[in-house]
Amino acid sequence: MRAAAINVDVDSLHLYYRIHGLDEARATNAVWERGVVRFAELFAELGVQATFFVVASDLERWPAARAIAADLVAAGHELASHSLTHPYDLVRQHDRFVEDELATSRAILSEVRGRPVTGFRAPGYTMTPRVLAMLAAAGYTYDSSIFPSPPYYLAKLAVLGQMALTGKKSHSIVGPPSVMWDSRLPSRRHGLVELPVTVLPIVRAPFIGTSLLMMRRRGYHLVRRVLRTIPFINLELHGIDLCDLEQDGIDRALLKQPDLRVPLADKLALFREVFADLRDGWGVATLEDLAPRVAA
Ligand SMILES: [Zn+2]
Repeated sequence: MRAAAINVDVDSLHLYYRIHGLDEARATNAVWERGVVRFAELFAELGVQATFFVVASDLERWPAARAIAADLVAAGHELASHSLTHPYDLVRQHDRFVEDELATSRAILSEVRGRPVTGFRAPGYTMTPRVLAMLAAAGYTYDSSIFPSPPYYLAKLAVLGQMALTGKKSHSIVGPPSVMWDSRLPSRRHGLVELPVTVLPIVRAPFIGTSLLMMRRRGYHLVRRVLRTIPFINLELHGIDLCDLEQDGIDRALLKQPDLRVPLADKLALFREVFADLRDGWGVATLEDLAPRVAA
């Protein structure tokens, strides 16, 4: 079978301040009010339904975010959990803490959704068998946290090492290196369906929003032929991918974020083309709809 899913991790700006070791009190709500809204407009234009992985505490903190999330549900998109507070070290926390992140986020999002949330993505793509088993116990039916990419893993290791050397503190962690060689295809494990984030067959390079924005249209056209050989595409994007530095008043301290340097019009044109290719070549559905079908 061929199938594709498009999903957006709604990581608010304060998380980027945190990951770069900057003062998060300066963060605005641009990721929800601009980035997510633009994604919803683009999905409506193309007639595709996506999955939004939401940090549930955002909906308690900002009434605007809750209203936007309700609009996503009304438009037929899936809401899934991206934890309660986005702790990068979730898998290192004790059981009670993890249980609360899983159960409370699910309760908040299920209420907005009007039906139970079934999917989960861990902060920072870090997942362990213990947390997978806890997800199943909490009522989730699929997980989409595995990102089996050595180039990504090694780059993250290098960045964290560099930050440690210069005395900067990041909240990010790396999980066990075995994730680099984990399966690229959907599988069943610990009572759940695991839907890995897509990597390319060549050295397992990431195929996510950030890498698309770095390769631009020319790069995408080069990898498109390889992409066609992959039966299941799980394209992961971030709300910030459709934010604009100037229009959205984004802090220049965040310019380290490579996706912010690309002009908004170029990002929209690129994503429009990629999403239309997925729709026409694979068919796009939500991860929740695909989970029972793809993992035989
Ligand atoms: Zn995240």
